[in-house]
Amino acid sequence: MAQDADPRVLIVGAGPAGLAAAHALARQGIGGILVIDRDDEPGGLPRYCHHPGFGLEYARWPYTGPGFARRLLSDLKSTGVRIACRTTLLSLRDGPEAELIGPALGLRRMRPQAVIVATGIRESNRGNLAVPGGRAEAGILTTGQLQQIVARKVALPKHMKSIIVVGTEHVAFSAIWTARQAGLRVTTMIGHDDRIMSFAPLGALARICGTTILTSSSIREIETKGGAVVAATVDTPQGTRRLSTDGVLFTANWTPETAALAGGPVALDAGTAGPRIDQAMRTSGRGIFAAGNVLHGVESSGWCAREGRHAGQMAARFLRGEISGASSGTVLEIAPEIDFVVPQICSGDATAAGAIPFNVRMKSDVAGRRLALKAGDDTVCSGPRRRLLRKRRILLAATATTMPARLELCD
Ligand SMILES: Cc1cc2nc3c(=O)[nH]c(=O)nc-3n(C[C@H](O)[C@H](O)[C@H](O)COP(=O)(O)OP(=O)(O)OC[C@H]3O[C@@H](n4cnc5c(N)ncnc54)[C@H](O)[C@@H]3O)c2cc1C
Repeated sequence: MAQDADPRVLIVGAGPAGLAAAHALARQGIGGILVIDRDDEPGGLPRYCHHPGFGLEYARWPYTGPGFARRLLSDLKSTGVRIACRTTLLSLRDGPEAELIGPALGLRRMRPQAVIVATGIRESNRGNLAVPGGRAEAGILTTGQLQQIVARKVALPKHMKSIIVVGTEHVAFSAIWTARQAGLRVTTMIGHDDRIMSFAPLGALARICGTTILTSSSIREIETKGGAVVAATVDTPQGTRRLSTDGVLFTANWTPETAALAGGPVALDAGTAGPRIDQAMRTSGRGIFAAGNVLHGVESSGWCAREGRHAGQMAARFLRGEISGASSGTVLEIAPEIDFVVPQICSGDATAAGAIPFNVRMKSDVAGRRLALKAGDDTVCSGPRRRLLRKRRILLAATATTMPARLELCD
């Protein structure tokens, strides 16, 4: 890329959301698209997950992670979209003005007409989770670290044969798969909640493979000897247990990657800790859109790609002058039982091109109720009566209203 040419659209993050956004923009005839990623290859998190189940909601096919990444990249062939890896967004200011750094571009300030933020998530490690105990040279890992070890074929210490997995969400079961690829036996899964947070059949499968699942439990301390993990102390409803293990893998508590947004014009939402958007994927920064896991923590790759596609379509409409560039409308009020909703803002002008559905998370499981979007005394839309499970995606149709609205639970 010529040193003096700023792209028309800068997409930050070459995961499913960013790549799908680039494809949607190119399909709308928008040129001058640059996708950057701080990793050394494009594809995002799926690159490191060699099991099937990726891309379903976007491509209607259960690709493996790397297979889905290849599919998204092949969509971009002959589109003129440029991808610069090992390139990091440092900050994003009004304008939009982006400061980035990488071997191909150096330290660079750019003024694209639009930016799509698709930076995904970061995970919590033992330090973030404040789990006390001994220090180890190896054996205390996060999912990302384990994935890198497997992807880069790094040898684990010879004594390491078994691990405990902390977390019971979908990602934890993917981590079990990766651990097995690394030759590790997962003896135990530990979760705070009273049931596993993923699908019940996955729990049954893990048990068949010899993993004990401890729910309503938490890790109290990690015990080490000579720089190696030897055991973990776990609080369970039946009392405190000492479990022998060679390692502990932390898989839970993913938060949106928003480091580069600090001090800039993009307002963050208190519920998600990601950018607050309206139904056209617009943030509060003019010309700045957002999509994918940066909006809500871990979601499926297909869903993130769908959000990316929608952000690309909406950015194209903005560039053609059909919609304004910053989020408009009022922030939804949410019932106390609801943890968060994305998008958080109802915006009337987004509906013409089909707005993204409201993606809701509950704080706790609720049986036999339905979600409803209300404006004054009117019900704008409502979902079916059903069991609303926490930490699962619950969708509500993308009806828009220009009136102040609230999301409620109804009988
Ligand atoms: C262990 C695990 C297992 C999973 N299993 C499944 C599954 O079976 N099926 C499924 O559908 N989904 C699965 N997922 C979820 C799926 O991987 C994500 O939903 C998807 O990758 C999200 O896409 P994204 O584009 O939002 O983010 P990501 O894929 O995380 O991509 C974000 C990109 O942004 C880059 N980036 C971040 N900050 C910057 C910056 N400042 N500058 C430049 N680049 C930056 C990152 O390097 C990254 O490449 C799994 C996730 C994990 C962690």
